[in-house]
Amino acid sequence: MNATIAIVGAGISGLLAARALKAAGADVVVFEKSRGLGGRLATKRVGDAVFDHGAQYFTAKSARFAAMVAAWAAKGVVAPWPGASAHRWIAQPTMNSLGKFLAEGLEVRREFKLLKVAREEGEWKLTIENQPLARVGRLVLTAPLPQSLALLAAGGVEMPGTMTPDLQALTYHPCLALLLTLDGPSALPAAGVALTSGPVRWMADNAKKGISPGRAGAVTVHLEAAFSTEHYAKTDAAVAALVLPEIADWLGAPVVNVALQRWKFSEPMATSGQRCVWLPELGLGLAGDSLGGPRVEGAALSGLELADRMTAGRNG
Ligand SMILES: Cc1cc2nc3c(=O)[nH]c(=O)nc-3n(C[C@H](O)[C@H](O)[C@H](O)COP(=O)(O)OP(=O)(O)OC[C@H]3O[C@@H](n4cnc5c(N)ncnc54)[C@H](O)[C@@H]3O)c2cc1C
Repeated sequence: MNATIAIVGAGISGLLAARALKAAGADVVVFEKSRGLGGRLATKRVGDAVFDHGAQYFTAKSARFAAMVAAWAAKGVVAPWPGASAHRWIAQPTMNSLGKFLAEGLEVRREFKLLKVAREEGEWKLTIENQPLARVGRLVLTAPLPQSLALLAAGGVEMPGTMTPDLQALTYHPCLALLLTLDGPSALPAAGVALTSGPVRWMADNAKKGISPGRAGAVTVHLEAAFSTEHYAKTDAAVAALVLPEIADWLGAPVVNVALQRWKFSEPMATSGQRCVWLPELGLGLAGDSLGGPRVEGAALSGLELADRMTAGRNG
């Protein structure tokens, strides 16, 4: 019997599931389509400026995740956001560093994009872009759920009938993120600012956050869901032209460069009542923030709980 477990996705849910399964003695391999690790715990360099452009910080409200975060803080992997409430944690030095840390010691194949997954003779057959076919015994999908369901559908895999409508309902908001390089220090508060009206939902200066070198502003601007949906296909310049006049006072210095990150799957519109899905008869697990809850902590707990269930299934 094929004992290998494939985990698709090196975001926090996939990496934590992989670590827990490996610690329980399983043979685990992680496939990640990007070059970077951490999924939406993401950081990007534009010229000399550095931007956390996905998750900005995370909270740890549950005892299980709080204990994990405390252990990471003791190792210097995470720290409180300077100048913000102590409940906002950031990875050190940048958000994607947490993904790199969690991937240490794991077999992670980067730039391995799954195209379809099929079930054949008690095994999973994985079709991966530009790679030979891979076969594994068990499969864990942690991409945003619509993407995971598309991989299953491409391979002709049918989920149990009662489950399908609930899973298909778990769709995502997009989020446009403007990454603005300024000519001088920004006027933003060090802890960033959340706005409740207009197209902008959140702004933070990565120079004041301590991750972009120098004092010149490197501002991440997250645009709210309806605006992002309406303007998703517009050019970087067109989106900037709509938004910059609204935030000129917050920026406080001229913009010298604009880049636009399009997050197609940013935040789940709804989440499932179950924290993860484990179907032992198929050897198939699903995890991620659309199951565990729409934030880093929810995704983490989803991956951990899936590993618990898979391990309990093996032993029991
Ligand atoms: C703009 C934005 C702002 C956010 N702000 C916050 C915040 O401030 N606080 C907070 O707690 N949360 C925030 N979030 C949400 C948080 O980032 C997510 O909930 C969490 O990181 C999701 O982790 P995950 O493991 O479920 O999924 P992901 O991080 O998306 O990981 C899934 C991985 O699967 C990979 N993948 C997908 N398809 C394939 C394929 N076919 N083959 C191989 N690999 C594949 C992806 O590349 C990705 O690396 C934000 C998200 C966004 C986008």
